[in-house]
Amino acid sequence: MEPEFLDEFLANHSLPAEVEIERIRREWLALRPPYDLTARHLPLPIWARRPFTESGTEAWHHLTHEVPALDPVLPLCIYVHIPFCADRCEFCDCYSFRLLSHQQAHIEQYVDLLGQEIQLWSRLGTLSQRPVSTVHFGGGTPTCLGPEPFARLVQLLRNHFAAGSTTEWALESTVSELSPEMMACLDGLGFSRLHVGVQSLEDPVRSIIRRRAPARVVLERIREAVERGWIVSVDLIYGLPGQTLSGLLEDIRSLVTIGVDGFSLYELQVSDRNRRFIQRHRLEERDRRHNYLWAQVAAHYLLALGYRKTLFNHFAGVQDTNLYFTFPERGEDCLALGTIADGVFGDYHYQHVEYAAYSRQVPTGVPGLGGGLRRNAVENRMQPLVTALMAGRVPRRLVADPIIHPLSQRWQETQLLIPDPSNGDLLLTGSGSWFVGHMISELMHHVEALEQETG
Ligand code: SF4
Repeated sequence: MEPEFLDEFLANHSLPAEVEIERIRREWLALRPPYDLTARHLPLPIWARRPFTESGTEAWHHLTHEVPALDPVLPLCIYVHIPFCADRCEFCDCYSFRLLSHQQAHIEQYVDLLGQEIQLWSRLGTLSQRPVSTVHFGGGTPTCLGPEPFARLVQLLRNHFAAGSTTEWALESTVSELSPEMMACLDGLGFSRLHVGVQSLEDPVRSIIRRRAPARVVLERIREAVERGWIVSVDLIYGLPGQTLSGLLEDIRSLVTIGVDGFSLYELQVSDRNRRFIQRHRLEERDRRHNYLWAQVAAHYLLALGYRKTLFNHFAGVQDTNLYFTFPERGEDCLALGTIADGVFGDYHYQHVEYAAYSRQVPTGVPGLGGGLRRNAVENRMQPLVTALMAGRVPRRLVADPIIHPLSQRWQETQLLIPDPSNGDLLLTGSGSWFVGHMISELMHHVEALEQETG
């Protein structure tokens, strides 16, 4: 990459002393094609890389035969998707919507549907007896259900699956939904991990993205959760209109000071769900080289403050186990419940349909799946390396295969991976985090092409 751009960036920003500028410079100067900062994409789920090979009905048929045959003592991760939000934020690309009318009836109906789906899965062999590592509620805003329906849903899960004293109960939310009543309810239900969509603490930016609570209130609520003994992690987005790098670093400082234990850093994504916002703020014209450098600076800052990279975009303190996001590393299956949720058993992946179809299908006695597919031979062979890249640390043995060697060489030459001096493993750098989606796609194409050549 051209040094002048970086020099100008450094001249225009005063960075905290903890940020290792030389490290950022080394990674910047090492970048070369095919790694194009402006063409970055996030890691894709398997069903986004290639279409489902089976319909939802066929997928359920497979799962009803295969799940009972799986090891009954293997821990299980459970994910529940709640698609509702109090308001639909225009910048957001998540699958969620605001209920315009009959809110309570829709909420009760959705919990009923989830209850029916829970029953269907719990009848599959020994699934209901497998130890549950974590139950994670994502969305949307799961707390939108309100205390009573939420408690009913948790009880349904407890009644049908083997959640025990070591199960981590975790959820995603926003500060405006964390009323004292809801927090007391979650405490009583045994929740201990909260992931808050903070996005930015710069008040002018919060007003552009129409966040109702000012930064002062966000910090107060998060402090209260930390004081209750919760493990709290946050989402921060970079690339928002009006945002500044010094503001982003100040956000990190403030959140560290009140005891936040984990940070997920996201670049603002462009999709059909937020296209109007992107167009209004002319973000399609943005120079993503700035976003890359912001990500680098924020990541280096978090590492210098003692956080570890436990996922390509997540930085964890000592307590933050982040069990849902790391289930593939532990070789667990993921039972996903609810509209659009995607899960995996062994090497079989499945996804649910959207809300309207889910509401129609579940009452007919099926779990509302949209399709499924099995990892092919190459995907299975590469799965440990893909998981390690996502986790940010690659054991040497995973790149010892001669087939992988040319790619591993290139990743090291371009500083996407660097050796860990303590044990010789390879670490995903800031550049590697930016390009991890690209690296995984590259790996698959490379291995598939070689296998075709050799028949
Ligand atoms: S940012 Fe959070 S609250 Fe806003 S629409 Fe997206 S999921 Fe809902």
